[in-house]
Amino acid sequence: MSTTIPAYAIEPPGIPALPIAGSGELFPIHRIYCVGRNYAEHAIEMGHDPDKEPPFFFQKNPDNVIVDGTFPYPDKSSDVHYELEMLVAIGKGGVNIAVEQALDHVWGYGVGLDMTRRDLQGEAKKLGRPWEVGKAFEASAPCSALVPASRIGHPTDGKVWLNVNGKQRQIGDLNQMIWKVPEMISYLSGLFALKAGDIIMSGTPAGVGAVTRGDHLVGGVDGVATLDVTVI
Ligand code: MN
Repeated sequence: MSTTIPAYAIEPPGIPALPIAGSGELFPIHRIYCVGRNYAEHAIEMGHDPDKEPPFFFQKNPDNVIVDGTFPYPDKSSDVHYELEMLVAIGKGGVNIAVEQALDHVWGYGVGLDMTRRDLQGEAKKLGRPWEVGKAFEASAPCSALVPASRIGHPTDGKVWLNVNGKQRQIGDLNQMIWKVPEMISYLSGLFALKAGDIIMSGTPAGVGAVTRGDHLVGGVDGVATLDVTVI
């Protein structure tokens, strides 16, 4: 008797993935975790006290990633914000990972935009509702290619910046993160089973603002990668 694998009733969806810089390979995405309010100046600009409210996590959908250099302006919003962030790509899963071992689980790094329908997010906050409509919509995560840690190491400082139409809008430094990369991995792995393929968006520095169609966003994390995105 041969065992057969049941056929899918519908065509299974593809596996979302990020390109790898200087390689023909792809990095398959399992989940996307995002850190909220991980830079004090950004927490303050959003009306929060970073001393009283520690960072926290929310999620985007893996297939919200877009890598073609565009960001299609979404429906149902008239206040869509950019948030430039470093990406942390997990290469080895685990639960209850110790801070001291956390970097062993990192495959590499990149740069992404946590695009946010701020008006819908604000309404959700006010009503105590979940954030997906504001954060986890189509193409809400324009991303760069990933760069392996074997090539660049594990950056702990470096400018995090975003220019819009040639003007500097966001500026910060990785060394200003409230939760450092090992801490976020350790904390997350206590709540969820981290798996190879997970991406962490590590939070945004101050200076977030709205985009309109035609805007040209160029940003990066020095020593990691840059990102060039046009709003269409
Ligand atoms: Mn963010």
